[in-house]
Amino acid sequence: MGCRERAAKTDLLRIVEIEGACAPDPRGTLPGRGAYVHPALACLDLAVRRRAFPRALRVPGPLDTEALRHCVGQATP
Ligand SMILES: [Zn+2]
Repeated sequence: MGCRERAAKTDLLRIVEIEGACAPDPRGTLPGRGAYVHPALACLDLAVRRRAFPRALRVPGPLDTEALRHCVGQATP
């Protein structure tokens, strides 16, 4: 979704919307719509800049991605 590179779903991180924020769902167990990005800051930032998350998750407003960035940043130093 971010860089538009093709990838297997198993290589991607599922993102869901929780109370106006993007939340990572690494096990794919949370309910609702999911958006998929590579678990890398570059891909995540690209998706944020394209406003891909509100579009993919069908929410009207901007989504907070700080917690998500923090999480992905720790996973990929
Ligand atoms: Zn990507």
